[in-house]
Amino acid sequence: MNVITNHMPTDELQRLDAAHHMHPFTDGADLAKTGARVITGADGVTLTDSNGHKILDAMSGLWCVNIGYGRRELAEAASRQMMELPYYNTFFQTTHVPAIALASKLAELAPRDLNHVFYAGGGSEANDTNIRLVRHYWMQKGQPERNIIISRKNAYHGSTLGGGSLGGMSGMQTQGVPVIPGIHHIDQPDWWSEGGDMSPHDFGLERARQLEKAIEELGAHRVAAFIAEPVQGAGGVIVPPDSYWPEIQRICDEHGILLIADEVICGFGRTGHWFGSQHYDIRPHIMTIAKGLSSGYAPIGGSLVCDEVAEVVNGAGDFNHGYTYSGHPVACAVALENLRILEEEKIIDRVAAETAPYLAEKWQGLTDHPLVGEAKIVGMMGSIALTPHKDSRAAFAAEAGTVGLHCRTRCFANGLVMRHVGDRMIIAPPLVITKDEIDTLIERAVTSLDETYDLIRAEGLY
Ligand code: PMP
Repeated sequence: MNVITNHMPTDELQRLDAAHHMHPFTDGADLAKTGARVITGADGVTLTDSNGHKILDAMSGLWCVNIGYGRRELAEAASRQMMELPYYNTFFQTTHVPAIALASKLAELAPRDLNHVFYAGGGSEANDTNIRLVRHYWMQKGQPERNIIISRKNAYHGSTLGGGSLGGMSGMQTQGVPVIPGIHHIDQPDWWSEGGDMSPHDFGLERARQLEKAIEELGAHRVAAFIAEPVQGAGGVIVPPDSYWPEIQRICDEHGILLIADEVICGFGRTGHWFGSQHYDIRPHIMTIAKGLSSGYAPIGGSLVCDEVAEVVNGAGDFNHGYTYSGHPVACAVALENLRILEEEKIIDRVAAETAPYLAEKWQGLTDHPLVGEAKIVGMMGSIALTPHKDSRAAFAAEAGTVGLHCRTRCFANGLVMRHVGDRMIIAPPLVITKDEIDTLIERAVTSLDETYDLIRAEGLY
C-alpha cells in the first residue's frame, strides 16, 4: 500500500482526495477541478499548507481553536488518557474519571444553576439531544402538547436531521431538512440586510416580538422552547441590536418557555466572557456547547442543563438517548486540559481587557474602505458587510456571494483565512492572537479588500 504523507506532491494528494473523500459543505465537481487546499501543519494562529505557504487563520479552523494550534499539553493529555483508559462508555450506570472531572469543571464555569452536562460528540448531536430533552421534560411535567421549538431563519444548529431542522439556512432547507415536525422559524435580527427604515433599536424589538407573536399564534401551551445563538455565527456574525436579547428574555419568562442558548461558537471565551449568554445577560435553561470546549483538539460537545430540567429528566426513569462517544474519556481529558489553559493563562480576561478592544478599533476602521458598509464585532468574532452603496445598504447586482467569494479568494492569496457568508466577510481568530498578529490580520484584510475593489470594478460588478 502507498504510504501517503505530507511530503507527497500536492497534486497527487489533491487527486487522491478528490477521488475518495466526500467533503462537507463543498461543491464536489468544483473541488475535483481545482483541488483542495492541503493543510499540513499549524502553530499559534498560523497554518502551513502543502506548498509551504503560511496563512493567518482568522477563523480558528471552524471557530474552534480558541487556544491556538500546537499546544503540546493537549497532545500529552490525550496520550496519557489513551494509555490509561482509551475508551469506556457512560451508559448503564457506568462512569469514568475524565467524564466526572469535566462535568464538575463545567458546572463550576457555567453560569447560575447549569450544573449538569449530557455529553455528545459535537454541536449537532448536542442539539439533537436538546430536542429530546425539552420534549421529554414537558411530557414529564404533564404537558405533552408542549412540543414546538421556535428557532430562527438563517440560524445554524448543526447538520444532523435534528440540528438541520432546527437551523434555518435556506441552502440546507432544500436538501432533506426540515424533517422534524414541530419546529417553527421566526426572522433573524439582521438589521443591515432586513432593517429597512427602522432604527436598530426598534428593529431589535420588532424581531424579538416576533417570538411573542409566534407563541400567541401557536398557543403558549404548545411551545416547549426557543433556541438561538447569542450571536449568529455561521449566519454571518449577525450581532443583534442591544434591544433584542432583553426583550427575548422577557418573553421567555412571561410565557414560561425554555430558553436554549446555542453556545457552540459563543462559548469558551469567544465573546470575551466564558459564555455568550453572560455577554447579553440572558438566563438559558440549556446551553449547547462544543468547539471551544476542547479548542477543536478532540471532538466533543454537550448540553449544559439547569437543575430544574435535570431533576425532572433524572426523575423520570431511563432517558433512552445517548451516543457511543458521550463522555469519551480521551476527549474529556483533552477538554479539561484546554479549560485549564484557558483559565490559568487568563486567556479570556486578556481578550476582554486588551485584544478584543484593540481588534474592535481596527475592525471598525475598515468602514473607511469604499466597499465596507457596517463592521460589527463582539469579542473575537466580527463581520463586515460589503456593499456598492453604504447609505442605502444596497446589495450588489451580482448574485449574492459573488463579491464575497472574490474577497475570500484574495484573502487566501494574501495569507489570510477570512470566510464569506454571502457578501459578509467574517472572522473569529484564536483567542490567543496578539496585537501584532491583529495588525497583520487587518493589513491583509485591507489589501484583499483593495484587490477585490479593483477586480469587481474591472468586471463591471461595482
Ligand atoms: N450550533 C452552532 C451554533 C454551530 O456553529 C455549529 C457548528 N458550526 C453547530 C451547532 C454544529 O456543531 P458540530 O459541527 O460540532 O456538529
